[in-house]
Amino acid sequence: MKPSYIYFDLDNTLLNHNKAESEAQRETFTGFPEFEETDIDSWLIAYKEENHKLWLKYQEGKIDREFLQYQRFLRPMKKLGLSTDRSAEIGRAYMQNYRKYWTWVDGAKEALELVADQFPVGIVTNGFLETQQKKIEVMELEQYTDNFIITEEVGVMKPHPKVFDVATERSGAERNTILYVGDSYSSDVIGGRDAGWQTAWFTAFMKDIEENQTADFMFDRFPMLTDYLNGK
Ligand SMILES: [Mg+2]
Repeated sequence: MKPSYIYFDLDNTLLNHNKAESEAQRETFTGFPEFEETDIDSWLIAYKEENHKLWLKYQEGKIDREFLQYQRFLRPMKKLGLSTDRSAEIGRAYMQNYRKYWTWVDGAKEALELVADQFPVGIVTNGFLETQQKKIEVMELEQYTDNFIITEEVGVMKPHPKVFDVATERSGAERNTILYVGDSYSSDVIGGRDAGWQTAWFTAFMKDIEENQTADFMFDRFPMLTDYLNGK
């Protein structure tokens, strides 16, 4: 069935979060002498491990944003035996650096322009309200839609059904005619499918895909998505 409404995920679908994260980590790492006691690879492994654990807790509503943004530096620094006196300051510096490196995923802007010419579109994104609003502003997404669903406002994160219920309601479309375009299998594909939506899985950032992981449509370059929507 041809979709009547298209929702896009933001991070690693429209905005290249991975690139911004690694550039910002590199800048933060070289900007603070605390890190001289370690090397960037060890740091990134330790950071990503703790960040991931904290995100899961944040997702479950067990911790808040400020706690996450501070602890994701404090914990790995402690683990690597680095001085943690300035870990809160370093956490804030990272967030400032992160904002400097926001760029579009290759081809995503052109695809969004084409899609928004043909369909009503909206954004459903996990993440912090303030940061995501800033991304929307920097990427000038208001020219394509005024429907932005940022999960910090909803109170639960994807794949929680409430996020998709709110988004369904706001779209004014029937569930089975909404297509969700996103990169995360667990948040976007499963969340969308469970909500009765159609799913288009952007796999360019995936290292390996398991055999049982499927979506209505899978693509790793954006022109494939626009072709799909045009029935090519
Ligand atoms: Mg994403």
